[in-house]
Amino acid sequence: AAKAAGKNRYLRFRPEMMKSLVERTELEAGLRLAVDAGQITVHYQPIVSTRSGVVVTVEALARWERDGEVVPPAQFIPAAERSGLIVEMGTEVLLKGCTELEPWLAEDPARALAVNVSGVQLQHGDFAELLLAVAQNTGVDPRQLVVEVTESVFFDDDCHVIQQLTALRNAGVRVALDDFGTGFSSLGRLQGLPVDTLKIDQSFTSMIHAGDENLPILSCMVAMAHGLGLSVTAEGVETAVQAEYLMKLGCDSLQGFLFSRPTAGPGLRSGIALSNDAFAALRGERVSGPR
Ligand code: C2E
Ligand code: MG
Ligand code: MG
Ligand code: MG
Repeated sequence: AAKAAGKNRYLRFRPEMMKSLVERTELEAGLRLAVDAGQITVHYQPIVSTRSGVVVTVEALARWERDGEVVPPAQFIPAAERSGLIVEMGTEVLLKGCTELEPWLAEDPARALAVNVSGVQLQHGDFAELLLAVAQNTGVDPRQLVVEVTESVFFDDDCHVIQQLTALRNAGVRVALDDFGTGFSSLGRLQGLPVDTLKIDQSFTSMIHAGDENLPILSCMVAMAHGLGLSVTAEGVETAVQAEYLMKLGCDSLQGFLFSRPTAGPGLRSGIALSNDAFAALRGERVSGPR
């Protein structure tokens, strides 16, 4: 901004800048302590298959409780990325996720655990090797793991990142494109990317209201993804109206508060039962409703 303001201008240092710098540094220092102390926990949110009504995947979501107060991931994930702490934290989430969910995964080979992976992690060292080692050590089949990345990891055509994702896919790990539609999102660019699933961002899901006949953006996204051989998950499903609409469009799976909020490991079982009930109710409505 200072540069844009002209050659002879400079950015005046204001007290608010110092404050935000101190806050940032403090946040990062706190996060480092929490990571070192193993205080980052993992919550799980179910993803329901529209074909079977069963929870096929759960997504691991990092949680940080600081002095009894929950710090939202929207705040601490960017801080972790800036400071590089995301590498350590991401490994911790992966390890906890695999350890906590191994028994659930072992019950059915169709089940999967999805973990969010930042571009920083993919650029750093051999992430594929790390993930496969964690899978091996926890007894989780790599074919039961999904790596969620955002479009931004593909922005600068980083060969290393593509290689890592390709290596993971060769080992049976699936790759999902998270928050789809919020980035630069040329659907055409999807072709040829090492991706299996498209996760439609919740901002699109929230466009669906009762009485909507046709939302062309959504139907195009689903059709295009299917045309490219990708499966489609819709994020942020909060109402039965949205779920029904997305099912009609042919989405393969749905995720959102309608089915379950993210829950801690021990609460996961009830969370899954609850989401199945919600799904059964939805199905019931559809079956008994007018054609
Ligand atoms: P995401 O991967 O897109 O995860 C979905 C987010 O939407 C989660 O927020 C989830 O709680 C929220 N959500 C799910 N269903 C609904 C719904 O029906 N309505 C609404 N309003 N929200 C819903 P959360 O847990 O706050 O995480 C935010 C973001 O932080 C995640 O977005 C992900 O990008 C990032 N994140 C979380 N954990 C990790 C992690 O371990 N590693 C990395 N790299 N990023 C993470
Ligand atoms: Mg995600
Ligand atoms: Mg998402
Ligand atoms: Mg999202």
